[in-house]
Amino acid sequence: MTNEFARHRRLRQSANMRALVRETVLSVNDFIYPLFIAEGEGVRNEVSSMPGVFQLSIDNLKEEFDEIVSLGIKAVILFGLPVEKDDVGTGAYHNHGIVQEATRYIKEQYPDLLVIADTCLCEYTDHGHCGVVEDGNVLNDPSLELLAKTAVSQAEAGADIIAPSNMMDGFVTAIRQGLDAAGYTEIPIMSYAVKYSSAFYGPFREAADSTPQFGDRKTYQMDPANRREAMREAEADMEQGADFLIVKPALSYLDIIRDVRNEFDAPVVAYNVSGEYSMVKAAALNGWVDEKAIVLEKLTSMKRAGADLIMTYHAKDAARWLSE
Ligand SMILES: [Zn+2]
Repeated sequence: MTNEFARHRRLRQSANMRALVRETVLSVNDFIYPLFIAEGEGVRNEVSSMPGVFQLSIDNLKEEFDEIVSLGIKAVILFGLPVEKDDVGTGAYHNHGIVQEATRYIKEQYPDLLVIADTCLCEYTDHGHCGVVEDGNVLNDPSLELLAKTAVSQAEAGADIIAPSNMMDGFVTAIRQGLDAAGYTEIPIMSYAVKYSSAFYGPFREAADSTPQFGDRKTYQMDPANRREAMREAEADMEQGADFLIVKPALSYLDIIRDVRNEFDAPVVAYNVSGEYSMVKAAALNGWVDEKAIVLEKLTSMKRAGADLIMTYHAKDAARWLSE
């Protein structure tokens, strides 16, 4: 009897059989939940382009964090919304900056929850760029000093992981040296190693109020057309001491996630960004797609591509669905 064709359906016959041979499994341990923390009191603003995502002041965090912890989510990443901005982003590294204050509150109330601090200047600069600006140019090296200062102040406030997102050259070295010099040798760096200049960030800029006031970020963020360049960026960050590598965005960049996974042994983090979230939410609200099925499929695809962790605004929903 010859075997004329393969019977792939043998392994798909039942739910239990499919579970037995499933290659990729999504877990609540994979998720990092991003939050927008606003200075002031009584703030609870839903981001209009991101239904279900809120800007919250510290006095409104309890309910949110009780929920996050009860769902089993292990880590959050914080973005700050300061009341005042200036040309050097003072709010980013101020001892009483919004991320520093929120970190202190969270670590006091929920000591086991891992707090990741986004380390950048763009939410705190009046021009909205990720560094120091002179004559319309974003200066690389002077920006590094401020980024290192920001990281140290976040570590002082209790942040467990520093996540620099600015894409200046040498930012990992600068931050590593800054942290080490201040005694924070054990604080890991989760580097936005591969960050594309992407239209998928649109809703985030509304949420974080960080739209550049002139020009764009194409001189420091990567061209979406480039794949090999991602390897150069990731390699440089590994050499500089990054402990995690982030690829951002995720959905249109699954090939890059796979490349980074194949090339490096560090944990790979996919950032499922705001625009990817908003598209699904909009379609789901219109009844055009099955939100639960789409979200779980999308997150699974990021893991299948090679991500160990996923930063996602869907984290709470996905955690709930996975526990059903
Ligand atoms: Zn930035």
